[in-house]
Amino acid sequence: MDKIFIMNLGTTSFKFKFYAFSGACSEVLASGELESVGADSSRCEISYPDGRVIAGEAAIADHGAAFSHCFSILQRDGIIRDLSDVTAVGYKAVHGGNLSGTCLVDDALIREMERVTPLAPAHNPIYLSAMKDIRKRYPQLLQVARFETSFHGTIPEKRVTYGVPYQWKEELGIRRYGFHGSSHQYIAQTVAKLQPGARRIISCHLGGSSSICAVLDGKSVATTMGATVQSGLFNNNRVGDFEPFCLKPIMEHYGYTLDETLAILSKKSGLLGLSGVSNDLRLVLEAADAGNRQAKLAFDTFCDNILGYIGMYAAYLNGLDALVFTGGIGTNSDILRQKVCENLGYLGLELDPVKNARRDDGIVSTDASKVTVWRLKTDEESVVAGCVREFLKQ
Ligand code: AMP
Repeated sequence: MDKIFIMNLGTTSFKFKFYAFSGACSEVLASGELESVGADSSRCEISYPDGRVIAGEAAIADHGAAFSHCFSILQRDGIIRDLSDVTAVGYKAVHGGNLSGTCLVDDALIREMERVTPLAPAHNPIYLSAMKDIRKRYPQLLQVARFETSFHGTIPEKRVTYGVPYQWKEELGIRRYGFHGSSHQYIAQTVAKLQPGARRIISCHLGGSSSICAVLDGKSVATTMGATVQSGLFNNNRVGDFEPFCLKPIMEHYGYTLDETLAILSKKSGLLGLSGVSNDLRLVLEAADAGNRQAKLAFDTFCDNILGYIGMYAAYLNGLDALVFTGGIGTNSDILRQKVCENLGYLGLELDPVKNARRDDGIVSTDASKVTVWRLKTDEESVVAGCVREFLKQ
């Protein structure tokens, strides 16, 4: 039996799922989350399949310490015997530059992730620090990374190439990589089971971070994020696609440095910057309902952005069989699904207002709709765990 500990890291958050694989079957033995990593006190919550939830507070200095903390709780509760009981740890790692797919965490991987850190400055340093720290604490533990770019390795070259001097691509790797690969892969695999015969799928992962992916015969053929997670869809805090020639006038007018300007574009733009209310769509919608013009414009712009990419991707796919909404916004906001879908009648798509109000996974389009619209919860960790298991088998 393989037991695999999957980690999903944020700047101050640590999420994990611990899987046991037996033959083709897998089960989650425990899952958990630590908040405020690096603060004086971190809140930790671990859940077991029998419904038990263990919650507590502890001082957790970094992500390596977070792993040790969760490991010791699982050991205390009899889920893990000792270190030899963990076949491997797996990371939902973000940017691997020239490395893609599922890879052993070794010196070469660490060097490549460090090289492309300027393209993923908010994500790669967290993963690198956890990988190095866990290697130091548990040198015998096998560490494996599944990159978020991996699913997009099948996008045709013409769609990952920017119109820039060719040597930038060759020498610096300035090209589209795409992210949220585990989520889009989960959606592609799930639709293949739920709707066999659906060859052309658009997966809309809309949440704290958002991207859209066009899938043909199970493979990614286009995605909205680019060389970094900053481009593509307008996001909660991120600008999305933006005109680089606006940087100079902004910097000159406000006296910002380039770093300050980029920080505003990546942290204070999108829904937050435009609405002036919040980066949480629920609060933006509340403000819009109360008559806030900027909030309404932010919601309308977000929906219009999504609509535009769906149109572009339906053209790339030469039609559409399934449209999927996932992520915190995609699954929970029936209003957003309605707003986006009301302009997709030209594809023969028809949303069912009653089904669209559902709070569980399933179809939200009418029986007569030519495109099946799904509300599906994503499960990125299960994809990473499956990939790590395949890697171990090989
Ligand atoms: P995620 O990053 O996928 O967990 O999504 C988190 C985001 O989902 C939050 O930032 C909220 O803005 C958004 N969200 C959650 N519930 C709703 C809802 N009912 N309506 C609109 N947005 C929601």
